[in-house]
Amino acid sequence: MYSRLLLTFAIMFAGLLIPPLFAVLSVDQQSMLVELPSILFLLVIVLSHFFKQGRSGFAALLMLVAYNLIQLRLQTPLAIGSTLLEYYFLVLLLPANLVLLLFLPERALFSFKALSYHAIFIFQAAAYYWFIQPEQLPLVTHLLTAIEPWLLALGDVSVLPNILLGLLICAVLTAAILMLFRDVASDQAFLSALLACTLTVVEFEQQWISASMFMMSAVVLLLCILKRSHEQAFIDELTGIPGRRALNIDLAQLTGKFSIAMLDIDRFKKFNDTYGHDIGDTVLKMVAVQLILVKGRGKVYRYGGEEFTIVFKGKSAADCVGYLDEIRLLIADYPFQIRQPIERRELQLDERNSKKGVDKTVNTKSKADSSITEVNKTVQVTISIGVAQGRSSMTCPEEVIKAADQLLYKAKEAGRNQVCA
Ligand code: GH3
Ligand code: MG
Ligand code: MG
Repeated sequence: MYSRLLLTFAIMFAGLLIPPLFAVLSVDQQSMLVELPSILFLLVIVLSHFFKQGRSGFAALLMLVAYNLIQLRLQTPLAIGSTLLEYYFLVLLLPANLVLLLFLPERALFSFKALSYHAIFIFQAAAYYWFIQPEQLPLVTHLLTAIEPWLLALGDVSVLPNILLGLLICAVLTAAILMLFRDVASDQAFLSALLACTLTVVEFEQQWISASMFMMSAVVLLLCILKRSHEQAFIDELTGIPGRRALNIDLAQLTGKFSIAMLDIDRFKKFNDTYGHDIGDTVLKMVAVQLILVKGRGKVYRYGGEEFTIVFKGKSAADCVGYLDEIRLLIADYPFQIRQPIERRELQLDERNSKKGVDKTVNTKSKADSSITEVNKTVQVTISIGVAQGRSSMTCPEEVIKAADQLLYKAKEAGRNQVCA
């Protein structure tokens, strides 16, 4: 996560190097590049619709509108007419809306559920449109004279008053902190958008700055959307490891000697019935975390349900038994802690399970000040493994999977918690 954060800052700060490059281009090339951010934001909006990533879609929409406002309305000296106030509004409203979206639940851009979001933006657009009409000029002048002493009292009346810069930095920090503490892929896109906004206004006097910074942000938004789509397609959401689709693609590309192990959690149905589906999910995640520690450069996939697959390239089944036995023991010895309220029914199940060897230890910890008594249990989870080998020129990987599956059933029949090769 830290590396992604630093990378986003690096990409956006690298955008500051682009404006001088515009100077060496022809006028036609310059005008094409000025259009590029809008085209990229539109592309993000379309992709966000098809890939169901509303958050990035809304960020792109806001950035598209803000960028075009900068190009259409803020290319004249700021002192003329309402330009300075429009600039202040933009510097306030764009980050405010982006930060708001960071905290709102994700909604598809073109959906009924997102109507309230659109209403917020349309209201702002209407207010802005009303405000820039020539007949509002007396109001604008009045507002500017009213703001001036206020800004003076705060220290300055420069193009970017300290208070606006402070708010922008707070917005950037909010996105950066959220990115560190929650695992939401689109936060990176929002951080890039907020950095684009901040660096643009800090360097506002520089020609081509908005085109450069918004272009960089559009590229980050596009990359985020593509990365998340790739994850949606190939990474299993629960465990965070590659899923069945990734396995099928990798199997089709296998060459030479290889081995495939099929792994299955023992008596997992009973586990779910006893402790609930949520704790079952936690077990699946923890098993996946242990499995990826497998040696021998084995690549781990979630095959489906409580079954996993490990593919070892260039290894025979005999080579893999040691690696597989190591992770089998790692999982069997892992102290899975379960914290749950005591219920009569569960205590009865515990007794039955411990007779069958499912529970290892039961540590009861009563919470004196709580009406619900909770227990901390250390539960043993075991896996059974079947491993078979093949050679791409002679056997298709599906046959090897079948063979590994049959060996897995042998391991189950032989008493579970073992490797069968
Ligand atoms: P065995 O030792 O023979 O493998 O017994 P088992 O109970 O593990 O096997 P069975 O195939 O009967 O049950 C598999 C269970 O895995 C059924 C289902 O409730 C559970 N399961 C499958 N996918 C998930 C999941 O994503 N989350 C949770 N919590 N449970 C899952
Ligand atoms: Mg199974
Ligand atoms: Mg099972």
